[in-house]
Amino acid sequence: MKLVSWFRGEAFQRGVHPPECKLTAKMPIRRLPFPPRVIVPLSQHIGKPPRPIVKVGEEVVRGQPIAKAEDWLSVPHHAPVTGVVEFIGLKPGQRGPWVESIVIRAHPGATQEDLWGQPRDLAQASAQDILQAVWDAGLVGLGGAAFPTHAKLSVPKQAKVHTLVVNGCECEPYLTCDHRVMVEQADDLIAGIRYAMRATGAVRAIVGIEDNKRDARDALRAAIARAGEIPEGEIHAELVPTKYPQGSEKMLIMALFGVEIPAGGLPVSLGMVVNNVGTLAALGRLLPQGRGLTERVVTVTGPGVARPGNYLVPLGTPLRWVLDFAGTPQEDFEVVLGGPMMGQAAASLEVPITKGISGVLVLPSAELARRESGKTYPCIKCGECVESCPMGLNPSMLGMLAAKREYDLMGSHYHLGECFECGCCSYVCPSNIPLVQQFRVAKQILREKALAAR
Ligand code: SF4
Ligand code: SF4
Repeated sequence: MKLVSWFRGEAFQRGVHPPECKLTAKMPIRRLPFPPRVIVPLSQHIGKPPRPIVKVGEEVVRGQPIAKAEDWLSVPHHAPVTGVVEFIGLKPGQRGPWVESIVIRAHPGATQEDLWGQPRDLAQASAQDILQAVWDAGLVGLGGAAFPTHAKLSVPKQAKVHTLVVNGCECEPYLTCDHRVMVEQADDLIAGIRYAMRATGAVRAIVGIEDNKRDARDALRAAIARAGEIPEGEIHAELVPTKYPQGSEKMLIMALFGVEIPAGGLPVSLGMVVNNVGTLAALGRLLPQGRGLTERVVTVTGPGVARPGNYLVPLGTPLRWVLDFAGTPQEDFEVVLGGPMMGQAAASLEVPITKGISGVLVLPSAELARRESGKTYPCIKCGECVESCPMGLNPSMLGMLAAKREYDLMGSHYHLGECFECGCCSYVCPSNIPLVQQFRVAKQILREKALAAR
């Protein structure tokens, strides 16, 4: 397959420019204290939940596998703290319904070093060995997608990959965890990129970074220079325009190469694989240690947070513990998991931080009410949503069909499947029509219908 030439650094068409609000961009990553208990939901990723391999009453050490992958699209979980398994059963989930979870009571006096895993030399490891190591580490996309990383790095037999595209855009307002990872963990990220290149066969890697994070670009270029000449190929760090949703795969590839992923296709059809910087930095750190994922960097921010910051949080830490530490008001606020554009309101403060949560955004209740359930007005056919949709869809028409429950028509004639729920259309709509929420419901109904038909 021919290497697509680069680099253009041009903005994709449409999209929006929401206020950046990156209050924590200069705040170094700090470790959050361990909570008394962690709650590890089995389902934290796209695919089948793993199966518990520990029992109630069992002592576990930090990093020990506690749940085993059930099939190819499943990943294991590791104990985030040293302690005793207190409960296995249903606990509140992020989206409302309760989900099967493992609760571990932390030993207050025990060291919280990672006590599991053996350092290993991966210098001569094959692509298959690396994929297996990624799988064993329980890695999923830390940018929010939570797709199992080993599956994402597995290239189908009939395909060939030449380029690893590394997403360092972090285009969501407020979020800065990826920014800090690039600045502070640049060497881990370069190590992870090299493993990913070997797993996929890519001969070049390009980190795309929005041009509001020049310090991240400089930190990565310094780390690339420190790595020197590498057998895998070339690594580059380049700026792309700051614009939402620059971090989506399609938009980033368009900005870097000026080529478009065909409708319904994947980057691999162009010889590319896309991964997020946080995921690859974790991969670079964990693989040589033979360890699993037990913590992640989370941006805790928003108006009213007394100590906003980028915190290294043990997975399974309840939101209430995070917010008590960060200092939030006790009432009149709502919590969004992720950024303001694509994040979703937390169902309760008892839900835990999971692998896919990159941000905890605390907004005044009045603001969220305006965004999510405030008064809506009829569509005035202004066309703002059409102008903003980066996928070239007609959100106004889709919204009207959703209101009439014409879900099949939305899928068959108006390309609902191409909508990746970026929220641009809802953001610009002067009538405050909750377009993206309607599209989520429609997609869920179509998925259920397809499942029932099978
Ligand atoms: S229709 Fe979907 S892809 Fe287009 S702007 Fe709305 S949410 Fe984004
Ligand atoms: S932005 Fe809102 S009001 Fe304007 S056309 Fe789209 S749905 Fe209608």
